[in-house]
Amino acid sequence: MPQYETVVGLEIHVELATKSKIFCGCSTAFGGGQNTRVCPVCMGLPGALPVLNRQAVDFAVRAGLALNCSIAKRSMFDRKHYFYPDLPKAFQISQLYLPLCADGWVDALGKRVRIREIHMEEDAGKLVHDPWTDATLADFNRCGVPLIEIVTQPDMRTPEETVEAVRQIRAALSMLGVSDCKMQEGSLRVDVNLSVRPIGSTELGTRTEMKNINSLKSIGRAVAGEAARQIEQIELGKPIIQQTRRWDDSKGASTAMRSKEDAHDYRYFPEPDVAPLSLTDEWIEERRSSLPELPEHKRKRYPIEYGLSEYDAGILVSEKALCELFERTAAQCGKPKEAANWIMGEVLAALNQRGESPDQLTLSPDVLSRIIAMQSGGVINRNGARQVLAAALSADALDVDEYVKANQLAMVGDESALQEIVRRVVDADPDSVAAYRSGKEKVFGYLMGQAMKALKGKGDPNRLKALLKQALE
Ligand code: ADP
Ligand code: MG
Ligand code: ZN
Repeated sequence: MPQYETVVGLEIHVELATKSKIFCGCSTAFGGGQNTRVCPVCMGLPGALPVLNRQAVDFAVRAGLALNCSIAKRSMFDRKHYFYPDLPKAFQISQLYLPLCADGWVDALGKRVRIREIHMEEDAGKLVHDPWTDATLADFNRCGVPLIEIVTQPDMRTPEETVEAVRQIRAALSMLGVSDCKMQEGSLRVDVNLSVRPIGSTELGTRTEMKNINSLKSIGRAVAGEAARQIEQIELGKPIIQQTRRWDDSKGASTAMRSKEDAHDYRYFPEPDVAPLSLTDEWIEERRSSLPELPEHKRKRYPIEYGLSEYDAGILVSEKALCELFERTAAQCGKPKEAANWIMGEVLAALNQRGESPDQLTLSPDVLSRIIAMQSGGVINRNGARQVLAAALSADALDVDEYVKANQLAMVGDESALQEIVRRVVDADPDSVAAYRSGKEKVFGYLMGQAMKALKGKGDPNRLKALLKQALE
């Protein structure tokens, strides 16, 4: 049986965070009453003329620059025709012949994934199923929301590389602020194109496309699952059909939706109502020079500036919410390593356990730095800190000092109180004491544990240790 290699190329649609739509002044805000954010332009009524949104071009250019693309000084819009009830014009304004950005790249797990192009286009509406009338209704609010479509070369080979490429692209775009990149709300949507081929072959196999996969985890599972299906087909001597498929994450399998259309099926032609877009070098360079610090750069800076491991830096910078929390906490409490440890440990574990993503975090830098300050200042110990953090992670806002007081988490550091406990522990267990004195040093840990237990975990460990040693020797 030959060994197979998986080949993946991505098409990623990202909604740009402009206030108004790409060709009209309608609001892009999420939600709102159905069909309340529409006008003759985004409904495609006869005679209505589109006007290109400057902010959308600005965001698209920044995205291209952040993903290492070259920016076309002259680009053009085209009509892509298809009929679907969520597309009232029966064509989408997109870019085919002269896209805005080309030839970029992003690094994922040491693999360079080339970006073929990034073009601008408008989003379509949404179909809503109405359970009362059992009818399908059209909501056009999303028609005309600006999108960029990022198209990669077929450069990924594994589920891990694919997930990481999406994560890196998402991190860069959300750091730029050009999109909120919320996969669960559909502001970043990933189509996975996948084929398999015998290892060593240089020709691409026939691919399928799985549309709109809405979480990083499901992207990984979709790549693994679809590759396995294709390999099985080939092993059974069946052909792979070029298809659009739907990935069903709960079943862990993809099902066929339709045979895939080719570019010529869309009868593309230049959009006559939108003038070609001309950008000057100055305008492009202005955008380049005002880019914020990008994840790639942070990844290199964190180990140097904060002494973090490369691994920790890699995890923190791949999520905007995490690196913001980290940088602000580090600045406030002056203890970057501590901040990173808490985030990499307790915070990520809590998110994982709840199946939440970092952008759902409510923990503020104020709270985290206060916890770190209280622990390093000897007010609470590690257990106490853990307890406050757990409470903070499930509250919208938490007054750390109040919480410590209300739950009596402050350490017992008072010399005479500690002395008293040590005396009790030593008196209560002469056997262990004798064992320790005869050289069994391990017993020390046990006696420390007993004393800590008597203090309900709130003893100052360093002082307690010193007092216990004294008592035993
Ligand atoms: P289409 O015009 O049908 O959208 P494209 O040539 O634009 O096709 O490619 C779309 C995406 O599919 C790109 O991300 C590309 O890398 C990927 N792709 C193309 N051919 C293959 C293949 N044989 N296997 C895997 N991915 C592919
Ligand atoms: Mg395409
Ligand atoms: Zn409109």
